[in-house]
Amino acid sequence: MDCPNVLITAPSVGRKNATLICVPVIAESVEKMKIHMHKAKAEGADLVELRLDSLNTFDPFQDINTLIHHRPLPLLFTYRPKWEGGMYDGDENKRLDALRVAMELGADYIDVELKVAHQFYDSIRGKTYNQTRVVVSSHNFELTPSTEDLSNLVARIQATGADIVKIATTAVDIADVARMFQIMVHSQVRHVPLIGIVMDDRGLISRVLCAKFGGYLTFGTLESGVVSAPGQPSLKDLLHLYNFRALAPDTKVYGLIGKPVSHSKSPMLLNEAFKSVGFNGVYIILLVDNIANFLRTYSSTDFMGFSVTIPHKETAVKLCDEVDPVAKSIGAVNCIIRRPTDGKLIGYNTDYIGAISAIEDGLRGKHNGSSTVVSPLAGKLFVVIGAGGAGKAVAYGAKEKGARVVIANRTYDRARELADAIGGEALPLADLDNFHLEDDMILANTTSIGMIPKVDETPISKHALKHYSLVFDVVYTPKMTRLLKEAEEAGVTIVTGFEMFIGQAYGQFENFTGLPAPKKLFRQIMKDY
Ligand code: NAP
Repeated sequence: MDCPNVLITAPSVGRKNATLICVPVIAESVEKMKIHMHKAKAEGADLVELRLDSLNTFDPFQDINTLIHHRPLPLLFTYRPKWEGGMYDGDENKRLDALRVAMELGADYIDVELKVAHQFYDSIRGKTYNQTRVVVSSHNFELTPSTEDLSNLVARIQATGADIVKIATTAVDIADVARMFQIMVHSQVRHVPLIGIVMDDRGLISRVLCAKFGGYLTFGTLESGVVSAPGQPSLKDLLHLYNFRALAPDTKVYGLIGKPVSHSKSPMLLNEAFKSVGFNGVYIILLVDNIANFLRTYSSTDFMGFSVTIPHKETAVKLCDEVDPVAKSIGAVNCIIRRPTDGKLIGYNTDYIGAISAIEDGLRGKHNGSSTVVSPLAGKLFVVIGAGGAGKAVAYGAKEKGARVVIANRTYDRARELADAIGGEALPLADLDNFHLEDDMILANTTSIGMIPKVDETPISKHALKHYSLVFDVVYTPKMTRLLKEAEEAGVTIVTGFEMFIGQAYGQFENFTGLPAPKKLFRQIMKDY
């Protein structure tokens, strides 16, 4: 048969790992599959998985022949039955026949489920299909088994005669992924090609860091959000956000610990900044339910630093071996570094500097840019909404700069506690609209009110904003919150959470790399934001 000559696994020159990126294609027609596989090649994939179970009509010989004939990349044929999470609901013999046809026509890879692998191998015994590598797969949509059970599963799959072992499990907690990394490393040492995927958003690190830990391939979608299994990143994100080709066994892992975390711009900023200075690190989103469990599990020097956000900043203080004095006073850590010499965790707070310098710049701008040694916050009445991690950072910072601080919080006791700690006043949040001790006060929202998706919410009535000379909002998704829009309409100077975000990110970068932050680059990357 006349097939284009495509290489199966040879990695391109210059890449630091051999892990392939496979684009899963789910389409109702062969024509659409052809379009998608060419797009996958153009965007930098190594191979394409064609999900035969997604086709509306399917003539195995004709359609597989057409697809192989037009392949711009190696093809993996998967015909997933309903009983293994797919869409095929017909006769099993017909399904396995189609996979045999794919082998006969020279498919590069086919996928056979573990449950039917012995039966499938029996049916092809005595025949040789040199071109096709068989992936034997097992999917667990509920959990990730113990390391011992995973090892046994690898052995069972190998025993079928599989060329490549595929295990896809589900992350109930991000710590589950560590077990997959363990068997990945173990399999690599024993030269067993293993695709180890942990599904769900909590399993994202398995899909990116498999390049570091020696996985055979990962899946990346053509369009973000259009996935064939839960938690798949896009091909673009793998290549350009996480710099997948440059990941190597010695690449250090950094990331943002939080819940929720998917909205964060930090991966974009920090990975680009790492790249610009040639720093061998990757920064990834870490959806963490239990930070103590996370830090205990990922305690090796592969994992060198973390940003910390909602709701873990206060717990993080207790979990660090040492805490910077400023972070200790604030009672919140938003940046953790693993000290290379002894592996100890050191906690910092970079929110404080980011927020306060942004507000000072805003006030100075209002005063015709005059830069004085004395902070423009000195003597001002500074109202902080919120008493969580960001609230403490802003309140502590404002106090340090000589402001008189008032804390308004939904839970009054927390407002009282913070006010007592910094020598300020406390206010129930319900009284904020009528609070008017003087004109020209400063207002800082440090709660998540107004954040995507609840963009219509605001912590204070518009009419009350006229008593303030500057309004700052810690929320940066969206950049212009309802609070800021209404403050601007009321003629008040505004400072966005974006300014704080960029300021705290400089600090994170410097803590992680020990290098000065490329400030111009940070602003350039974020300019369209
Ligand atoms: P946190 O420690 O969980 O504190 C949340 C605070 O918000 C608490 O005071 C809480 O009040 C209050 N709150 C939450 N939902 C509320 C609601 N519906 N009504 C009234 N009050 C509410 O969180 P955090 O770490 O301080 O983060 C807060 C926000 O700051 C997040 O949106 C985060 O993304 C943002 N942030 C932005 C930057 C940046 O660079 N711009 C940096 C850090 C954080 P209770 O005490 O009553 O629960």
